Amino acid sequence: MKPSILNYTREELSRFLEEQQQPAYRLQQILQGLYQNQWPQFEQFSTLPKEFRQLLDDNFVLRSFTLTDTHISEIDKTTKFLWELPDGLRIESVIIYEGKRVTYCISSQVGCPLDCKFCATGKMGILRNLTAGEIIEQVLQMNSRSEAPLTNIVFMGMGEPLLNLDEVLPAAHKFIAADGFGLGKNRITISTAGIIPGIKQLADQAEPFKLALSLNAVSQESREKIMPVTRKYPLSDLLDSVREYTAKTKKTVTFEYVLMDGLNSSEADARALVRLAHPFKAKINIIPCNTDDPLYHPPSEQDIQKFEWIVNGKRTITRRRRKGWEIQAACGQLYAENLTKTARAAKPHNNKPIMDRKKP
Ligand code: SF4
Repeated sequence: MKPSILNYTREELSRFLEEQQQPAYRLQQILQGLYQNQWPQFEQFSTLPKEFRQLLDDNFVLRSFTLTDTHISEIDKTTKFLWELPDGLRIESVIIYEGKRVTYCISSQVGCPLDCKFCATGKMGILRNLTAGEIIEQVLQMNSRSEAPLTNIVFMGMGEPLLNLDEVLPAAHKFIAADGFGLGKNRITISTAGIIPGIKQLADQAEPFKLALSLNAVSQESREKIMPVTRKYPLSDLLDSVREYTAKTKKTVTFEYVLMDGLNSSEADARALVRLAHPFKAKINIIPCNTDDPLYHPPSEQDIQKFEWIVNGKRTITRRRRKGWEIQAACGQLYAENLTKTARAAKPHNNKPIMDRKKP
């Protein structure tokens, strides 16, 4: 199977052009066709000679996903896409419309190894990492179907992005590059359940992206119960790494807090959250729990408002509306059926580039 051209950095494409004895200016022509014009077929690259278009077509594919299902919310038009990848595995991506803001929620892994108890994706286990090209293709595929232009991208779909930074970072850089998608770096948010080495790596980026920490509990003990990753990366160390990120990048961090009745939504929890967030330049985003799991359900509206009221007195707090919950597209609900999990995972993923990838 031919590799996706979306996996290649501009340096790798330059090498390919040299090997093919093509002039250097072809690089800009290719990038423009890929990311500005977003042509889905090489024959549309009208700035390139016909023979060279054929050569590209002989060596690469431009789109590798099959759209297998689409759900559109009748309430708010939130749209969830189910894609089949070349190796038969499936992932989901979501478009969220909020006024002029159009956010793409994209996946970084097929499934997720972290097993957060309130999250449907965690129940899939991890099948594999997505390639940079597959991360980028989600955006291209949704661009051709969106009702309004993309304004923001959040890595909050399936998977833990900081466990796949070798692919997530090249894709995120493509989203902000002038010869890529040209989005502002403040429009890209990478969310983590708390992978400390990944947070440190993000803090060291020359052009850092926005960070969201899926916090969800205010003590080591309560967080361990719902997020097993806390055993490996304890809450106090995690908060130190976030402090380091905000000090180095001068960026505000977002604490995401999924409210679960009887677990983390009491008045004492709200006050503890205020204390925890106090030293940080941070926004707090609460999200009433979305899972279908009977063990985890949202607090009553009255309790949510009380929680908001306590935090609001001291901190900026926003409540994320449960956009797309009725089509299982809301936070924590993404679950792609990958029934032959073991067999699929054993099968090699053959969407590999034909040249060695140089990591940036
Ligand atoms: S919440 Fe995020 S990190 Fe946790 S299991 Fe779900 S996808 Fe993975």
